[in-house]
Amino acid sequence: MKALVYYGPSDMKLAEYEKPVPKKGEVLLKSKAVGICGSDVHGYLGLTGRRIPPMIMGHEVVALVEETTLENSRYHKGDLVFVDPIVTCKTCENCREGYYSICLNKSNIGVLEVDGAFCEYFTMVEENLIPMPDQVKPEVGVLAEPFSVALHAVKQLTMPAGKVKTIAVIGAGVIGMCTAAVAKDIYPDAEIVIMDVAKKRLDRCRKILGTMIETEDLTAKSYEDIRAAYTGSGFDIVLEAVGVGPTVNGSLTLAKSKGEIVLIGNNQKDISLYYQQIVTRELRVYGTYGFTHRDLEESILKFRDRPYAAAMVDKIVPLEEAVSYFDELAGPDNDYLKIIVDPTL
Ligand SMILES: [Zn+2]
Ligand SMILES: [Zn+2]
Repeated sequence: MKALVYYGPSDMKLAEYEKPVPKKGEVLLKSKAVGICGSDVHGYLGLTGRRIPPMIMGHEVVALVEETTLENSRYHKGDLVFVDPIVTCKTCENCREGYYSICLNKSNIGVLEVDGAFCEYFTMVEENLIPMPDQVKPEVGVLAEPFSVALHAVKQLTMPAGKVKTIAVIGAGVIGMCTAAVAKDIYPDAEIVIMDVAKKRLDRCRKILGTMIETEDLTAKSYEDIRAAYTGSGFDIVLEAVGVGPTVNGSLTLAKSKGEIVLIGNNQKDISLYYQQIVTRELRVYGTYGFTHRDLEESILKFRDRPYAAAMVDKIVPLEEAVSYFDELAGPDNDYLKIIVDPTL
């Protein structure tokens, strides 16, 4: 079968791989729609250390069932499924608490050295599959992955909904936009402001989310300006979806005293913090990582109500063209949100 193999920084090629054989309990899947994630692009450039070559990336996946191995399988050949990319152990301390996204023994397809779905066929344990609702197209269903990241992030918050009047989202990429949309679902009365340094991304964001949110350009306004323009002493909630020093510190600046901040962005190992801001204003800072199977199921069910999700899909390309899109996405000046690879093309 054809597979897109990552051999090292900026080195990815189409290669001939052996078609995998599913073990008992696994399903052989045919990749149908696989999203190129920002983390894949950073991995491709060799920036994060989270893609260990040689490996196949691809963790945002909608696939067709090809072959099942369980006698009482709920699936049939040709069924369209969303693939939960995270296999958890169900027995470690975190799993026992229900914190599956931070399972101590998890493996994530398309991450580190585990092969993913930028190829024709791959296998997955059956319990990780979720049937796709009929009305949702495969390429749109892929967005259930970033929406689940957003949902998991918003679930970290503890402030009673009635108290939440203002929410700031830093970063207008796919995760930031999904986060703003999920926050609007959960806090419908709150005013939500999303900000970014990239004008093109803000334009896309306005087109896609429209009147749901306000947008602000961080090249024209400081965090202090934005805080003053929308709030008295700061935002009730700040959702950070970039993960670099200036934006993480910006999230502290934007928050009101006792405000809640969720750090979603995961770009840098070490960041120097405005530490006393957290201490002296009693800020509540939470980390969030990935999502649980339950988050995914909830996101997929919600997809019928998310007409704007389709607008985030830019292009559907065959495996042969994927590398050139990795290069474009890695470039400085693009306004792509989600490129989908369809290995059946
Ligand atoms: Zn991703
Ligand atoms: Zn576990």
